Amino acid sequence: MKLIKSIQLFTAFILIVQPFHLISAQTNYCLDAIDSIDLEKRMLTPCKYVKEAKRSISKREDNKNMFEISDFRCTSKVSDECEKVKNTFETAGQIISDAFYFNTPVLVNVSFFSFCDELKDCPNTTVHLGAASPKRSILMGDDDDLNRFYPQALVKQFNLESHPEFLPSDITANFNTDVKWYFGGKDPIKKNELELLSIVLHELIHGLGFRSNWGPWVGAEGVIPYPIFTDGSNKTLIFNGFIEYCFDKYLIHLKSDCNHKSIPLVTKEFNKFAGGPGSKFNTTTEFILELKNSTQYNYYGKKMLDITTTAKDLGFQTNAEDIVILETSYKLFSQGVSVVHVDQSTYQNSSDFLMKPSFSFGDTLEKIINDFGDSNYGPIGPKLRKVMETLGYESKNNPNPYRPSEPKSLGFPLTTVSDVS
Ligand SMILES: [Zn+2]
Repeated sequence: MKLIKSIQLFTAFILIVQPFHLISAQTNYCLDAIDSIDLEKRMLTPCKYVKEAKRSISKREDNKNMFEISDFRCTSKVSDECEKVKNTFETAGQIISDAFYFNTPVLVNVSFFSFCDELKDCPNTTVHLGAASPKRSILMGDDDDLNRFYPQALVKQFNLESHPEFLPSDITANFNTDVKWYFGGKDPIKKNELELLSIVLHELIHGLGFRSNWGPWVGAEGVIPYPIFTDGSNKTLIFNGFIEYCFDKYLIHLKSDCNHKSIPLVTKEFNKFAGGPGSKFNTTTEFILELKNSTQYNYYGKKMLDITTTAKDLGFQTNAEDIVILETSYKLFSQGVSVVHVDQSTYQNSSDFLMKPSFSFGDTLEKIINDFGDSNYGPIGPKLRKVMETLGYESKNNPNPYRPSEPKSLGFPLTTVSDVS
């Protein structure tokens, strides 16, 4: 998710009219990051089931770092800098592995390069620090009758006998060499430096599933869940529903005085659009026009835009009944910033600072933890731990995490029989 330095408030708002990618029916869905640079560019991809060789889960070895760099690209010319980046990932992986129990390693594809040289994204009023996202997200069926996308890193921990194929890496992460990074060490941080470790930790948490499928997908007037399609006959499109991310299952409207306190109930309303999943359209333009004329868009889409752009109006309810207030203070919905961070004003001076949307120069995790945190938790505060446990990560306090099951039929048969030995 996009991270911006503290002095810039907004990233450019882009009206996104996504080309919805088509796949043929009779298969399960995976949502893949398809651009190694723009990590928010995703494509719905058919993914066939494979059988997992039965493996015994070895007892968790304490202190083992379960994060591995599966691919490393570093263009820095500064002596030792690439090595320092690797070491920072090592430290971050260790911190997360100490907070949660992983039975299967999490593989991270890391790139450290100049955003200015390669992306023409040069520092002016905003400097992008980096981003990370799940390489593949897999459709699963939840216990509230909705299907949702789960990050591959989490699905791997389920140890399913048969599952949609995994990609070679779980998380893809890019970091910008144009930023003056602080790598720790003897010298104190300078006022114009940013500590890489805090940003790497923040981004890895996004890659583990701290993300949302709500967005202004068809225009700035409404915030909607992500719609998916399959090919129909005679070049028609079959609309297969609005699909949330696993994080979205726990979203609640904090100032609600209506019946839709739980945001998934709004998604259920959206899924009544055009008679529900299975309805056919000739083109995506026709779908968008019809959606924009619908009650779902004009009532719920606008209501969700209102909720996601009003400070402290949206929360994440954990399985321990804790509420985490999410970032909704931006007056324009900012994709990758709104919803997918904790509220800056509530948590910046607390143990749960890690998922705030912006970080200040000259700050270190050590200093923030000393000033506001709790050394028992370190950088991963108690509420953030509960969020990740709620998503399904195992920990000392969460030894039997929630598990989704196979996705429910979307109006056509899904291939759940493995055809690969
Ligand atoms: Zn972020």
